[in-house]
Amino acid sequence: MATYGRFPIELVRGRGVWVWDSTGKRYLDCVAGIAVCTLGHSSRALRRGLTDQLRKLQHVSNLYRIPEQERLAAWITANSCADKVFFCNSGAEANEAAIKLARKHGHAVRGIENPVILTAQASFHGRTLAAVTATGQPKYHEGFEPMVQGFRYFPYNDTAAFEALLAECEAEGPRVAAVLLEPLQGEGGVNPGNPAFFKRVRELCSERSILLIFDEVQVGVGRSGCLWGYQKLGVEPDALTLAKGLGGGVPIGALAVKATADQLRAGEHASTFGGNPLSCRAGLVVAEELARRNLPAHAEAMGVLLQNQLADLATRHPELAEGARGWGLLQGLVLQPGGPSAIEVVKAAMAEGLLLVPAGAQVVRFVPPLTIKPRHIREAIRRLERALLACRTTTPSAT
Ligand SMILES: *Cc1c(COP(=O)(O)O)cnc(C)c1O
Repeated sequence: MATYGRFPIELVRGRGVWVWDSTGKRYLDCVAGIAVCTLGHSSRALRRGLTDQLRKLQHVSNLYRIPEQERLAAWITANSCADKVFFCNSGAEANEAAIKLARKHGHAVRGIENPVILTAQASFHGRTLAAVTATGQPKYHEGFEPMVQGFRYFPYNDTAAFEALLAECEAEGPRVAAVLLEPLQGEGGVNPGNPAFFKRVRELCSERSILLIFDEVQVGVGRSGCLWGYQKLGVEPDALTLAKGLGGGVPIGALAVKATADQLRAGEHASTFGGNPLSCRAGLVVAEELARRNLPAHAEAMGVLLQNQLADLATRHPELAEGARGWGLLQGLVLQPGGPSAIEVVKAAMAEGLLLVPAGAQVVRFVPPLTIKPRHIREAIRRLERALLACRTTTPSAT
């Protein structure tokens, strides 16, 4: 089906931060499957771990105990604020599980008949019906109405607007089950969360026993420069959702919750593939490599380098770019309104052998493997600069 607007290249092989298309052209991959290939392409550790697992056992049902799943859950809980984990296969599914958990919490803990979940404008939570309703971007709703009941939206990082919406919803008593937020909005334009805003949201949620859920599908698992995005904000959620980078390219998602926030009992939620031995083994390899190679700290250092170089690029070409923002290896180059759009820059970069992905109309996003080295970053900047200059000569300026 034509659900994707695809670029006309066919990627057939990868190694580290490089991928090759079917004509033999090589690209520096700063997309990494959209923040998925944490360890780069064709990682030795993943090949070894997965080959070993395939020789032992690929899939069994959650009718039985699964040791790889228990070990991955133990790693997540030992290294995060969460105490328990449910595994699924994608980010949208992880958020679906979180939404079900929130509704049960609303009924059971707050005594709400029709619970509401508050989410941010410009957010992105996935494409299943409830996750896309949670997504505060009308363009993703169009044509799929009626949307799921029980969602309200507020502007991200806006404390006054959040307080006003909360007060409105709770004017006649408890109504809000949960607040669902990305610590940094990825898809919505690489907007980092404001610590003061998140601290206030945390306080208000705690006062009222409202669940605070973080969607860490893109920012989690080391990409932010910390293991979890919430560490950048100094605020702990009651639950967090994970997916993209967790399996390094093997599909896996997870909902991790504090013991105090756990509401789901046997039979209330399930997934056939969720947490199978193969996907959890991939998660375990990613976890081991993150620790062994200290990749969150490496992502922080590489992120500083990348952001500084993008900011320098913006200074050299103020008519094209405004500046750079992001955390760790989730960075955005903010383009000037009226100049080339993000998609135009992405296309020009592809011609120069650099893969990038837009985050909205005016931001070009960098989400490379966490294993990227300084020389790759310098090469990416050289290729991006050539692409920007090529755009300038083909795009009429607004001024
Ligand atoms: C990609 C993404 C999702 C959706 O994940 P899928 O695996 O595509 O369902 C949800 N939330 C955030 C923050 C994402 O970046």
